[in-house]
Amino acid sequence: MQQEPTPKSLLVASPRGFCAGVSYAIEIVDLVLDHYGPPVYVRHEIVHNRHVCERLRARGAVFVDDLAEVPTGSLLIYSAHGVSPAVRKAAAERALRVIDATCPLVTKVHLEALRFARQDYQILLIGHRGHVEVEGTLGHAPDRMHLVETAEDVEKLDLPTSERVAVVTQTTLSVDDTRDVIDAIRRRFPTARTPDKDDICYATQNRQTAVKELAAASELVLVIGSPTSSNANRLVEVAKNSGADARLIECADDVDPAWLAGRTSVGLTAGASTPESLVQETIERLRRLGCTQVGDLETARENVTFALPPELRDKKVCEARSC
Ligand code: SF4
Repeated sequence: MQQEPTPKSLLVASPRGFCAGVSYAIEIVDLVLDHYGPPVYVRHEIVHNRHVCERLRARGAVFVDDLAEVPTGSLLIYSAHGVSPAVRKAAAERALRVIDATCPLVTKVHLEALRFARQDYQILLIGHRGHVEVEGTLGHAPDRMHLVETAEDVEKLDLPTSERVAVVTQTTLSVDDTRDVIDAIRRRFPTARTPDKDDICYATQNRQTAVKELAAASELVLVIGSPTSSNANRLVEVAKNSGADARLIECADDVDPAWLAGRTSVGLTAGASTPESLVQETIERLRRLGCTQVGDLETARENVTFALPPELRDKKVCEARSC
């Protein structure tokens, strides 16, 4: 006789999944495809999620890393991660029609970097080398910006202690992620201008706070997100550091029933670029695998939205009236 699986509880984090910046970027690509038709070129993957990009690719979005791949005069959208001024210049030289889907919170960091550069600061950017957002931010003051990933990087900086130093951060790092590096900066440069708490992206902070509580209440935490998503990978690390076993999955099919054996509590969350449909499909799969009690673990409420770029606002009104 086949044994029934042990009943398990499933706690689903709230907030989870799409942040305001990701919703904003995806809405822009959909609106541009609706109103101008394909092809629409997008510099870099609009957000780091395979399912989202495949859906948009099927509608006619073409993701490129190099502007040389974009025919002169075409429509080009910048992804949520933002671009450097050099990319904007290259787009202008190729007479590309640009619509900017950079998350406004990333733009805020770019403007801070420009302001610090004008005020003659050396700028330390806390972030991950090679991340597309970091590349864009570094490009705003290439002569006076220094990337630091760790406290050791701060020690190795070739700058005198008396130097005027200001700090900006990659938006997908939380207060916890940056604490050690900021402490090292304060030790090395006592007068450094460090970021206000406001500079940390609300969505990153909220998702990490939620996953900590999820990890405290669950033996296993599943995080839905693409392997290329910095914030989803970080949620896995935070859950592990908080004492739970944790796995990154891209979709419901990735759940291995063996992970659930002998466990009675499972937690589920999703990175900031993961659509809610993937969360719901995963909940259904987990129900079939014995997670019979499903509940929410709410740690914050979010009501952040960003206004569309001016050139698309009338398109949105038009869509609402079906004209
Ligand atoms: S995680 Fe934060 S900074 Fe990044 S796109 Fe979302 S809202 Fe913007």
